[in-house]
Amino acid sequence: MDHERPRPIVAVKFGGTSVGDIERIRKVAARVQRMVDDGHAVALTVSAMGRSTDALVATAREITSRPDRRELDMLMATGEQVSIALVTMALQHQGVRARSFTGAQAGFLTDGQFGYARIVRVDAAPLRRAFEEVDVAVVAGFQGVDARGELTTLGRGGSDTTAVALAAALGAKECEIFTDTDGIYTTDPHQVPDATKLDVIDYDEMLELAALGARVLHPRSVWYARRYGVRIHVRSSFSFATGTIVTRTAGTQEARMRTEKPVTGVALDTSHARINVVGVPDEPGVAAAIFSALGEAGVSADMIIQGVPGAGDSRQQMSFTVPLDLADDAVEAVRPALERLGGGEVSADADVAKLSIVGIAIGSTPGLAGRLFAAVSRSGANIEMIATSEVRISVIIPKDRAQEALQAVHDAFGLGRTEA
Ligand code: ASP
Ligand code: MG
Repeated sequence: MDHERPRPIVAVKFGGTSVGDIERIRKVAARVQRMVDDGHAVALTVSAMGRSTDALVATAREITSRPDRRELDMLMATGEQVSIALVTMALQHQGVRARSFTGAQAGFLTDGQFGYARIVRVDAAPLRRAFEEVDVAVVAGFQGVDARGELTTLGRGGSDTTAVALAAALGAKECEIFTDTDGIYTTDPHQVPDATKLDVIDYDEMLELAALGARVLHPRSVWYARRYGVRIHVRSSFSFATGTIVTRTAGTQEARMRTEKPVTGVALDTSHARINVVGVPDEPGVAAAIFSALGEAGVSADMIIQGVPGAGDSRQQMSFTVPLDLADDAVEAVRPALERLGGGEVSADADVAKLSIVGIAIGSTPGLAGRLFAAVSRSGANIEMIATSEVRISVIIPKDRAQEALQAVHDAFGLGRTEA
């Protein structure tokens, strides 16, 4: 045995589908055993089995529609505790030395925000010590403990963030995320059948796609990976094919390709509602009053447009988007503000979709907005709002036209599979 150099550590994560039943748990164990046989110590993060977290939440809601957030975390965190124990047993049964760890045992210190806690620090010492005795540390994703010792969860889908944070803390250059798709696609392949798998995607592009509703990676995991320079390899747990690498592309061949093909992906997000405010006085301080009221209600607005009043018109209108489940809160927060301002109406429209093109070269490539708008209008959708940034251009369109618009935009930027 070589005592001079510790074994290289690999950080990997298997999602809920990959550990969905006992047969699959055995397959995960077999795959992880190969990594051990190759001479690695494995930091293995797992999610709760299948849809069991959803089932736990549903059970809580049978008691109350608004469960206490501390108790909900206590409940949800049990899902991962089931899977770490079973995966560890499967590994041990195959003769692999393995041990399970809750988030707290694995050194995850978070802030105290139940339900969406942020990681403050990961103490790598417990796992490093464990690797002196075992080959695999099986860590519960999605959970941690705060400074008071309270159990917390990291937000739905947060196991990805656990895995990437562990990779960073253990000094691993890469984190492999094994999931039920074989990588990141130009758009959702369930909606656009000719969507193509990307070999490489930049952190900044992935952050936009993750935030815009491409449900493959927890957005915070990408943020973490970018901050600590951890490469993410998203790949299928059911095959050995290479998936998609999420990394920094600046200065690489990949970045040069982006100038020729600046649009990397198209995202469709139907999780927002549009809030319309009409008939408010056109005076200084109006926007400030409305958005302060929203802020106090804990609602953050995304796209914002303000209409220009016509000549002789002293009334103003504006629209913005908010997460769908906060639409009622937004309306309730804005209404009293309007009364104080001397009039106006506020309403919510849930039948909207946000369609975005994403790519790191978008801000430096002229003509893309025109091509996007042309494709959207050819599909018959009316553009209601527009927003742009360095890495994306988004439009709000009616939800019932979103599917056609998505396909049209995907085609317009040549993202579909090309016939050989
Ligand atoms: N089990 C948690 C969830 O369903 C965390 C995760 O799967 O990443 O949200
Ligand atoms: Mg997930």
